[in-house]
Amino acid sequence: MEKIYDVVIIGGGPAGLSAGLYSARAKMSTLILEKNKTGGQIATTEEVANYPGSIEHASGPSLVARMVDQCKEFGAAIEKDTITEVKLDDQIKILVGEKNTYMARSIIVAPGASPRLMDVPGEKELTGKGVSYCATCDADFFTDFEVFVIGGGDSAVEEAIFLTRFARKVTIVHRRDELKAAKSIQEKAFKNSKIDFMWNTTIDEIKGDGIVEGVVFRNLQTGETQEHMAHEDDGTFGIFVFVGYIPQTQIFKGLLDMDGAGYFITDDNMKTNVPGVFAAGDCRVKSLRQVVTAVSDGAIAAVQAEKYIENNFHE
Ligand code: NAP
Repeated sequence: MEKIYDVVIIGGGPAGLSAGLYSARAKMSTLILEKNKTGGQIATTEEVANYPGSIEHASGPSLVARMVDQCKEFGAAIEKDTITEVKLDDQIKILVGEKNTYMARSIIVAPGASPRLMDVPGEKELTGKGVSYCATCDADFFTDFEVFVIGGGDSAVEEAIFLTRFARKVTIVHRRDELKAAKSIQEKAFKNSKIDFMWNTTIDEIKGDGIVEGVVFRNLQTGETQEHMAHEDDGTFGIFVFVGYIPQTQIFKGLLDMDGAGYFITDDNMKTNVPGVFAAGDCRVKSLRQVVTAVSDGAIAAVQAEKYIENNFHE
């Protein structure tokens, strides 16, 4: 017979890894499934400055590596697979992946969120050819080039500051006349002489034949459009898009309760509407999406899963 895990965790970001640590330490057989690289969004974050105890310039990848080691040390298994279907009707839950099918007494769903696209002509075609959603991954390609960063939240402004280490000029393009990012982050950006701002501006189109060569900006106050072309000597420039994230909850539609934007609705104990199924991290309706709140969710979900198993599977 195939193995039935006590807990299967979908997602290997901070919420999933924290759940894995707590679950494995409680001696529950634990499997963490991750479709890409472990770490979620922090795996592509250069500096995690606001996680308590993070030393200056602690990087996302190094924090993830320590979380993964800690999970494994306590016996959690981590596997790469993409779950495409879940069956939650029976006491034993079934997860169908691209590689394998898994059985679990309880599930912790922590799939996180992925970058939202601007949805403008040229964006998809030129992704990886000048359009990027990850400064840590792609900044180096733009050493001494010009780059535009789209968005006004924490991600856009933090990543713009990071990009100034590489690019010769960084312009933050924001659709409002003030930033949404935390004041401390804004202050750093305003002080940085390499950063310029284009206010009340969005992008109408990205142009280029196999590589970004131009962009059409629209001023939302005047309605005027302005085409910016790559400098002759450069031939291209970068467009880094940070306009928010979309929760990766699609396969649970109709099974687990969600709000209008697709975030799971849980109670304070991370319980979803299905007994034995918990949700943790950025995929959940909450007021603060940070590593510190994700790891808290994961710990609570694992402790609740343990209680659920104790009450439902043990004499
Ligand atoms: P966000 O806070 O949702 O900000 C998205 C930004 O993109 C907003 O300024 C928004 O404009 C703009 N935007 C949305 N759709 C757009 C479109 N189609 N075209 C142009 N602009 C568009 O997203 P985020 O910055 O990625 O942050 C996500 C969460 O992670 C937040 O809770 C944030 O606090 C957290 N985070 C924290 C840190 C940190 O604390 N160090 C770092 C990164 C992220 P409007 O302002 O007009 O809505």
